[in-house]
Amino acid sequence: MNESNTTSVRNQASTAIKSLFDASVVPSYRRFNLVFSHGAGSYLWDVTGKRYLDLGAGIAVCCLGHAHPEIAEALAEQASKLIHISNLYYHETQGRLAQALVNLIGPGKCFFCNSGAEANEGLFKLARKFGHDEGRFEILTATNSFHGRTLAGIAATGQEKVKQGFEPAMPGFRHVPFNDLEAARNALSPATAAIMIEGIQGEGGITPATPEYLLGLRRLCDEKKLLLLMDEVQCGHFRSGRFQSFQRLLEGTPGGDQFLPDGISMAKSLAGGVPMGAFWVRLPHADILGAGTHASTFGGTPLVCAVALRVLQVIEREHLADNARTEGEFFKTELQKLAQRYPAVIKSVRGVGLMLGIELATGLPAFAGSDQTASVQFVNQLHAAGLLAILAGSQVVRFLPPLNLKRNEIAEGLKILETIVAQVSP
Ligand SMILES: *Cc1c(COP(=O)(O)O)cnc(C)c1O
Repeated sequence: MNESNTTSVRNQASTAIKSLFDASVVPSYRRFNLVFSHGAGSYLWDVTGKRYLDLGAGIAVCCLGHAHPEIAEALAEQASKLIHISNLYYHETQGRLAQALVNLIGPGKCFFCNSGAEANEGLFKLARKFGHDEGRFEILTATNSFHGRTLAGIAATGQEKVKQGFEPAMPGFRHVPFNDLEAARNALSPATAAIMIEGIQGEGGITPATPEYLLGLRRLCDEKKLLLLMDEVQCGHFRSGRFQSFQRLLEGTPGGDQFLPDGISMAKSLAGGVPMGAFWVRLPHADILGAGTHASTFGGTPLVCAVALRVLQVIEREHLADNARTEGEFFKTELQKLAQRYPAVIKSVRGVGLMLGIELATGLPAFAGSDQTASVQFVNQLHAAGLLAILAGSQVVRFLPPLNLKRNEIAEGLKILETIVAQVSP
């Protein structure tokens, strides 16, 4: 078969796969027109054989890149020993993983589940139980936040678009402006039990919490006997250069190294692509969820815990927290230079470590005359040029690459990015 025949066969394969989705998959996702078959490291290949540099990593999930040999090995080894036993019994890997997470965060205990939304649900239940005997149940969250797609998750999320059509909202959530301590203080009611924020808002457009906000919320929660909960599902797991984003954001701030929230939710990168969620609860509150109060059948299986432990080993051995810090710094500096060369296209550059975003200017003529947002059109052009990035809202394009991203891969991404930025520049 000659080359053009091969391509046309592959295009047919792509069409056939999409028609399976049209026929049999609930259309709840607005998917891009890309069909992938395999990956390696920071690259993905679609069914036509085209290669893409993946700076989205499955939305901050594939923290060691695609098809990492040690993840494959940990999966195979553990699968041939023990995959699942349920939480009716003990097994070593869950205990060891909990210990490792506690060592990375601070004195406390962990609960294991399967996703970010489920981890947040656990923290919401923790807050309700914490406030229960005093009749307190309310949780304040931030405008533009994202906390998952369950009913409590969408009630907690500070974005109207996720709530629409699913009313009535679960009671007990109110939103306050992010990075505004006074707004949080003023919004408290006698029923308030907790405040939950992301360390760096992800879906909301890559907005880090300020050190003053974090320390101020800690003091406020101590003063009013509230739980301070942090959703580190996207910004956690070394993406910022430290295990949790608040550890990085508070570096160099007096008192910053004493800071701990009362609960932390984790998921996305936790097991490098194998589904896993978890939450950590600070010691004085770690036994609030006693026997029989909370559960998840698949939570913390031997299989997923073995993978999560291996992911932690690789990150430590290869100094990937440092890599996220130094390569993130390089990437961000280069993005800022690009923004200086094309101020009419890039309005701002945001983020920390390998959680970066560019904010596109509004009203770009190149994006006029389409009902799609600027971010969708921009990302589509990046795709055509062989680069995967992720949009956040109508104006922001995010980069959430693997933590082992290499300098030459960043350079390759920047080159593609500059081509597209120049193309849409007025
Ligand atoms: C992705 C995300 C969630 C939801 O995680 P799922 O695994 O999709 O349920 C919650 N919070 C934040 C900050 C996220 O980025």
